[in-house]
Amino acid sequence: MAKVIIIGAGGVGTVVAHKCAQNPEVFTEIVIASRTLSKCQALVDTLGRPNITADSVDADSVPQLVELFRRHKPDMVINVALPYQDLTIMDACLECGVNYLDTANYEPKDVAHFEYSWQWAYKKRFEDAGLTAILGCGFDPGVSGVFTAYAAKHYFSDMEYLDIVDCNAGNHGKAFATNFNPEINIREITQNGRYYQDGEWVVTGPLEIHKELTYPNIGPRDSYLLYHEELESLVKNFPSIKRARFWMTFGQEYLTHLRVIQDIGMARIDEIDYNGTKIVPLQFLKAVLPNPQDLGENYTGETSIGCRISGRDKEGKHLTYYIYNNCSHHEAYLETGMQAVSYTTGVPAMIGAMMFLTGKWQRPGVWNVEEFDPDPFMEQLNKQGLPWHEVFNLDLEV
Ligand code: NDP
Repeated sequence: MAKVIIIGAGGVGTVVAHKCAQNPEVFTEIVIASRTLSKCQALVDTLGRPNITADSVDADSVPQLVELFRRHKPDMVINVALPYQDLTIMDACLECGVNYLDTANYEPKDVAHFEYSWQWAYKKRFEDAGLTAILGCGFDPGVSGVFTAYAAKHYFSDMEYLDIVDCNAGNHGKAFATNFNPEINIREITQNGRYYQDGEWVVTGPLEIHKELTYPNIGPRDSYLLYHEELESLVKNFPSIKRARFWMTFGQEYLTHLRVIQDIGMARIDEIDYNGTKIVPLQFLKAVLPNPQDLGENYTGETSIGCRISGRDKEGKHLTYYIYNNCSHHEAYLETGMQAVSYTTGVPAMIGAMMFLTGKWQRPGVWNVEEFDPDPFMEQLNKQGLPWHEVFNLDLEV
């Protein structure tokens, strides 16, 4: 018997709610809570089950969260609101004795900067309270870390080179749209790139480095080096790694739109005065862009996300290894009403919560996913809609 509160009823929250509802033996009671009650209620109506209810909360407010948690007494909170709310939700979890899981690390609203230090600083308090916090349990971060842990556990004695490769080969038919929250997405990809090499972080210009990589069932796609949050925890948890990088595909049309958005100042995150009203240009842009939740219906193609790893195998011989999942936008839409980017994030978030609630990933403290046993999680990926594939000793192209 376990009760969860899902905070956030956007693209990812919708998938998490569907997947929790599909596993009623683990998730016996589900509360969907977000800023806009009507969205939560609409989701509850779609799911149509008596043990799933809606509520509202401003997750920027610790007192409101505490009141919500005291009313519902959940075992765990699945935080799929925005990264800005991570710390307030963690504070409320500590105050009410609730376990925690999220899919993106904390980011302050006024600086486009994300890193784990803010959340890792909660480790002792979660330990002392006997509570588990699982960080970054979407696809990347999330499955990317579980794949890496699985490679380390079963195949490598020393992983030396890690490249996480993320391709969206889908087509939604819009001139420009982001696949998850546009504000968070544009903040992420307009930053400097960064990768890890021989104990140092090497900084590049935004999207400065790119190369063509071949994705299974998709073919070659131009892939751009970005900084991504799981690199920070993976190089810490797997110190044999000499180089760790993250690549994401973008089409030329997308990049042209992005450049114009930046050039005309619409990617700014500082407040400006507009006719006596303070607005943040990027938040205004979000209001006029397509809602990522509405992209699913006509979305064709698939995503392909995986890890390309090389190093020494358990016998000390050179090994290259590629593990990946491909996910169809259309199939994700038919199952949950959302496209594959929301789907590939929401399914692992549900599995992470399942791991905790079934006792497989229970350990007081604050943890990244690769610090737990990957095997039961990998088993569930195959069962819950994200099957994975392995290729050994192939040219990794990286
Ligand atoms: P959406 O913008 O679609 O949804 C966000 C939801 O959070 C909305 O329901 C929104 O409510 C709610 N929300 C925002 N602010 C608050 C608040 N102060 N209090 C309560 N609720 C709030 O985003 P996505 O679903 O696309 O993304 C959700 C999360 O998933 C993000 O943190 C994103 O970074 C992460 N993500 C992780 C990935 C991974 O692989 N690890 C990949 C993709 C996304 P309202 O509708 O009222 O605005």
